[in-house]
Amino acid sequence: MSSGLNTRAIHAGQEFDPTTGAVVPPIYQTSTFVQDGVGGLRGGYEYGRSGNPTRDSLQTLLGALEGGSIGTAFASGLAAEDALLRAVLRPGDHIVLGNDVYGGTHRLIARILGPWGVEVDAVEMSDKDAVRAALRPGVTKILWVETPSNPLMKITDIAALAEIGKEAGAIVVVDNTFASPALQRPLELGADVVVHSTTKYLGGHSDALGGAVITNDEEIGEKVRFHQFAAGAILAPMEAWLTVRGIKTLGVRMDRHSSNAAAVAEHFADHPRIERVYYPGLPTHPGHELAARQMSGFGGMLSLALKDGEQAARTFVESTKLFQLAESLGGVESLIGYPAEMTHASVRGTPLEVAPDIVRLSVGIEDVEDLLADLEQALPRS
Ligand SMILES: *Cc1c(COP(=O)(O)O)cnc(C)c1O
Repeated sequence: MSSGLNTRAIHAGQEFDPTTGAVVPPIYQTSTFVQDGVGGLRGGYEYGRSGNPTRDSLQTLLGALEGGSIGTAFASGLAAEDALLRAVLRPGDHIVLGNDVYGGTHRLIARILGPWGVEVDAVEMSDKDAVRAALRPGVTKILWVETPSNPLMKITDIAALAEIGKEAGAIVVVDNTFASPALQRPLELGADVVVHSTTKYLGGHSDALGGAVITNDEEIGEKVRFHQFAAGAILAPMEAWLTVRGIKTLGVRMDRHSSNAAAVAEHFADHPRIERVYYPGLPTHPGHELAARQMSGFGGMLSLALKDGEQAARTFVESTKLFQLAESLGGVESLIGYPAEMTHASVRGTPLEVAPDIVRLSVGIEDVEDLLADLEQALPRS
């Protein structure tokens, strides 16, 4: 489609209801569909696991946003990842991923697919030689990239890794949850597959879990679709509708998330209580230039290392009022988290462990002066 991202976000897959003219397509909250005689399906719909018009409208929309020909929606981000992995992997296959990949992704691969015979190596993704060395041609089936990463916002060069992965015969997968297609489109940079937790920025309102796999590779896309149908981790109609509703404002939300996060990052860049700010929008961030090249904005996520260490970090996350202490990210409301014991508890004792002085902020779209005042009042004074 040649129209711009904001136009696609509002119109792709969203034709008005032909029966009533309703501008917003209805929620098809149904498990099955009446047949006009045996096998006489209306619009191809038979049973809610194999197809539902509300889910289809979201799948079309997701494909259009990422520039992919086939999008498939699941009950959560991890359900989407699981479907993709089991659709393309066989026992004995090998995966290379980043050493700061989303903890749940590592857990899924190591603890669910591991016993099933899949091997995994976690490497430093900014070190291209390390990635090349970890890839085993013919055995490594997937090179898994997540950028910006969680929680240190490391930036990985998608185009370079897509080339390196393809040379080794691996499928290059990018988890685009943190950037969203409003800021970064991995398929255009050479990746084979994009995965999302739509729970985060795509849905954007912290009211629906969901996940997606998007690709231009028809073979992979069809395998993932078959997995969705045959294993059944589908996205429910209400969740699909809420996600479509959220996506309509993706562009304006990401603009505000990015400008608010930039203001927070700048505020704390030279702050006496803060050791370090991790935000790709700061020129001092090691991935700044790369981010400026491959993203159209720096996003709403940042992390802070507190000078006074673990106790200060714990006190800080329990003292904010607007920033609510919760897992997850990407909603309109600001959230604060303590990765070492929350999002990254599952990777403690592994190379993916997060330092105890780090706090993570999902900067929402509230008034930035209020957000800054909240963070300042919560900083422990020594
Ligand atoms: C949340 C998240 C996931 C998992 O998604 P769920 O919807 O929670 O299952 C995967 N990747 C990233 C980067 C995430 O933030």
